Amino acid sequence: MIADFEYFAPKTVEAALSLLSQYKEEAKIIAGGQSMLIIMKQGLITPEYLIDIKGIAALDYIKYDEGKGLRIGALTIHRAIEKSPVIQKHFGVLSEMERNLATIQTRNWGTIGGNLCHGDPAGDPAPVLIALNASLKLASLGRERIIEMEEFSKDYLEVALEPNEMLTEIQVPVPPPHTGTAHEKLMVMKGDMGIIGAAVSITLRDGVCQDARIVLSNAASVPLRVKEAEKVLIGKRVNEGLLAKAGEIASKEADPPSDVHGSTEYRREMVKVFVRRAARVALERAKAVSQEV
Ligand SMILES: Cc1cc2nc3c(=O)[nH]c(=O)nc-3n(C[C@H](O)[C@H](O)[C@H](O)COP(=O)(O)OP(=O)(O)OC[C@H]3O[C@@H](n4cnc5c(N)ncnc54)[C@H](O)[C@@H]3O)c2cc1C
Repeated sequence: MIADFEYFAPKTVEAALSLLSQYKEEAKIIAGGQSMLIIMKQGLITPEYLIDIKGIAALDYIKYDEGKGLRIGALTIHRAIEKSPVIQKHFGVLSEMERNLATIQTRNWGTIGGNLCHGDPAGDPAPVLIALNASLKLASLGRERIIEMEEFSKDYLEVALEPNEMLTEIQVPVPPPHTGTAHEKLMVMKGDMGIIGAAVSITLRDGVCQDARIVLSNAASVPLRVKEAEKVLIGKRVNEGLLAKAGEIASKEADPPSDVHGSTEYRREMVKVFVRRAARVALERAKAVSQEV
């Protein structure tokens, strides 16, 4: 059963921020409600004030600019990201990731902002956005700040939001030239939460890996960037042996949970496989874009 609360449905960002600044810790934002309602029903949170932001049309957008890159409003639904022609053209990995996230029904209602703010380390968008070097715009009354996506998750279901703040925008820079990015996740059925996931971005210069970002989901209490594994690839002409080594090092850096879907040991093995697979695809994509220019 859900405890009583007072409900507000502001139609502007300013109105939502005013309510947040007034009620702070006693208030919670609700967007799609897909995760909020579950934890409210479980009694894990009992907000006195619920601020429903789903009706704030100004936070539902996808914009692309060759200089600034991609801007996604926090209330954009997963399905819009999956289907966006501009995302499919410039950030295909985001569209692919969304295609494997839950069912169409869930993607048609859940928001990217809600997904990130829920702070579930098993979530799919965060690792891909970290691999893409994305940032988040957080707003409070009269103030805005930008935080790197990599710094946003603090612990299991905990993110770096102050009680008076809300996420308004996701910002994804244009990737450096000759960059390929890929996401792979282990699912029992398509659309399941990933038992393990890996997002990898590789940048080449003259065939040598200039930069690599490798990020895991469901392998720690936060989306985990495995920097020692990245070092295995950086500065080298990447081959199958190095991909396998990166997977092995990533598996050592991971601290995966054990649950009904898989033991810690099983997840460690799967980290090896999925890092290797995602890195292989990212490498092929980086080579392909290098040949285009
Ligand atoms: C059946 C099912 C399957 C799913 N499968 C997957 C999957 O495979 N992969 C995956 O990644 N996800 C999955 N999800 C999660 C889904 O992607 C939703 O995105 C996610 O539940 C939250 O989105 P929401 O808009 O419903 O947020 P809500 O539930 O409304 O909010 C979630 C949290 O974020 C906070 N919040 C929301 N918006 C903001 C904001 N703008 N600023 C500050 N705080 C905010 C809320 O206060 C709350 O704490 C699944 C969900 C369901 C129900």
